[in-house]
Amino acid sequence: MADPVLTAATERRNDLRRNVVGLRRDALAEAFAESLALDAKKARMRANQVWRWVYHYGVTDFAAMTDIGKDLREALAARFLIGRPESLDRQVSNDGARKYLLRLAPGAEVECVYIPDVGRAGALCVSSQVGCTLSCTFCHTGTQKLVRNLSAAEIVSQALAVKDDLEEWPSGREDRQLSNIVFMGMGEPLYNLDNVAAAIDVISDGDGISISRRRITVSTSGVVPEIQRLGAETGAMLAISLHATNDSLRDELVPINRKYPIAELLDACRAYPDLSNARRITFEYVMLKGVNDSDAEARELVRLLKGIPAKINLIPFNPWPGAPYECSSWERIEAFAEIVNRAGYASPIRTPRGRDILAACGQLRSASIKERASERLKARLAADA
Ligand code: SAH
Ligand code: SF4
Repeated sequence: MADPVLTAATERRNDLRRNVVGLRRDALAEAFAESLALDAKKARMRANQVWRWVYHYGVTDFAAMTDIGKDLREALAARFLIGRPESLDRQVSNDGARKYLLRLAPGAEVECVYIPDVGRAGALCVSSQVGCTLSCTFCHTGTQKLVRNLSAAEIVSQALAVKDDLEEWPSGREDRQLSNIVFMGMGEPLYNLDNVAAAIDVISDGDGISISRRRITVSTSGVVPEIQRLGAETGAMLAISLHATNDSLRDELVPINRKYPIAELLDACRAYPDLSNARRITFEYVMLKGVNDSDAEARELVRLLKGIPAKINLIPFNPWPGAPYECSSWERIEAFAEIVNRAGYASPIRTPRGRDILAACGQLRSASIKERASERLKARLAADA
């Protein structure tokens, strides 16, 4: 008998239908015009209808789109699909954080994390790449070899999969649990800006998932030449992984600093569009024991950010197996925070969430890698037996 799992995988690979997820509204209309031989106006109307079903109601089957005639629904289903990633695993932390391992395509697995009580209601931390080409020394994602950009569809799919799990359809409800998106999962979003920008257009559309651009934050390690374009094209909020207050230390911790040093990075921040007290840049600062956590560095941090509308987020270092750092002591973090607080930056310590399920910053994917390794080991032992 055929293995049902393998059969399903083969079917997916042989499926030549085009995924509607991740296409911008105009691209969706164009695709309909082309493959259904509709004129531009009709194609636009159909795109608007399908858009609402997919992103407002969370429908995954064209047959459910009752305001579209049966023949057209069938034609749509023959040529298009409404993709969902395969959910390989879901873990729920004691603190309510949920970590998902999603297979977006064969060989492309990413993790994303839903964190309740962040932002207006709760934030989803999405990945923009499988792995990361940069190798920040404190980040586990940076140790992964396999790297590729995610498509816009694969980024949007993470939000759809989590909305399915939270049963958050239709979109835009007052009691929504998912109110914010942060690009702080795996990968460097500014190395994949075209797809990130397309995904933001889809996610922020008011007739769909409806998470406004002001509630979407993109975190970068400091890809200076792309910062301006991020602001101009997406209107998203900016977060900068600063982590050090001088170039020699930042060169070591965040090696992209050798290319784009702190002064250039901060100039790009000052030029970010529409900054104001209500629209501030978040500066992330990971607390590494004895490395970047002195009082002098706290004062230097405040000095560096002078004149930039800024929030400071102190992130206790989240350890991973083999990591070359330790987290600063709680007293040290508080002393550092006190200096930052006195300079007028409120409640800056980011409580680690989902640590028990390795879902905290910089830990993504570690558990699944371990699991894979143990599966391989089991398979080898079985083969040897
Ligand atoms: N590549 C982007 C976005 C993903 S990382 C960036 O670097 O900004 C999201 C945040 O988690 C970054 O600030 C990153 O520096 C931080 N981070 C990475 N590993 C960490 C760890 N082990 N403990 C705490 N924060 C970590
Ligand atoms: Fe990549 Fe960000 Fe991790 Fe650095 S901190 S290795 S840029 S994911």
